[in-house]
Amino acid sequence: MPADLHTHSRASDGVDRPAGVMRAAAAAGLTVVALTDHDTTDGWDEAAQAARDLGLLLVPGTEISCLAGGISVHLLSYLHDPTEPQLREVLRVTRADRVGRARAIVQRLAAVVDLRWEDVAGLVAPGTTVGRPHIADALVARGVVATRDEAFAALLHRDSPYYVPHAAPQVEDAVRLVRRAGGVPVLAHPLADRRGRAVSEEMIASFVGAGLLGIEADHPDHTGEQRERVRLLAARYGLFWTGGSDYHGVARSYRIGEWIAPEPALEEILATGRGTGAVS
Ligand code: AMP
Ligand code: FE
Ligand code: FE
Ligand code: ZN
Repeated sequence: MPADLHTHSRASDGVDRPAGVMRAAAAAGLTVVALTDHDTTDGWDEAAQAARDLGLLLVPGTEISCLAGGISVHLLSYLHDPTEPQLREVLRVTRADRVGRARAIVQRLAAVVDLRWEDVAGLVAPGTTVGRPHIADALVARGVVATRDEAFAALLHRDSPYYVPHAAPQVEDAVRLVRRAGGVPVLAHPLADRRGRAVSEEMIASFVGAGLLGIEADHPDHTGEQRERVRLLAARYGLFWTGGSDYHGVARSYRIGEWIAPEPALEEILATGRGTGAVS
């Protein structure tokens, strides 16, 4: 049962519609796929319909933007109840703050390149979780840069003078909210340090204390050595380890199904998640 447990659609910063992500998954020979858009569950319904039509097992999820100290951390949640009021409110606040934050980044960029807020607003449907990738797409459309990657490398990276942060919960709070909503919290790409500081082992221990259950080892931003280290951390802290491609459509080089989760991770998630069901 090849299972890719980390993908994005147009509900956040992916390129494909949710149904398109499901079609891409089926075409790649996957039988199980999780849709894990940033800070939203908006794509779930469309993905569920498509998964049923295609004979895929869909694991509904969300990748929650969090902070640990000053470090940006991503927490995957699977099978949580999307109507649980506290988690829902935290995600709503993050999404709302992302809009003002994107406007602030565009305002800074407008001093040096030809870019207006309308360029970005025209690319995102209402309700979409707005992120730097949308600003990157606007910069590509304006001819300032050629690709998302180039936009990040030149203008949008975290140490850039144009970077502005957005509101986000502390990881421990998010972990507790996910558990409260019946979801399964999994730390995403914990050692990926290519684009910013990664968390320490002490921080991971603190997340475990809050109720973290899994940790992502196999991810395109991890080196082979980092994937091995995550597996050791999983064993040390009693976590299951998982994997996924972080597919975002053609805007990134990550191919769907390029990294997948091992069977025990999928079984653990399906057995533990009780906020909503997997869809088949
Ligand atoms: P944000 O959520 O607005 O802080 O933007 C972070 C998102 O940007 C991540 O989820 C990635 O999908 C994307 N991203 C980060 N670095 C790059 C890159 N070099 N090229 C394309 N997308 C990137
Ligand atoms: Fe993303
Ligand atoms: Fe991420
Ligand atoms: Zn992701």
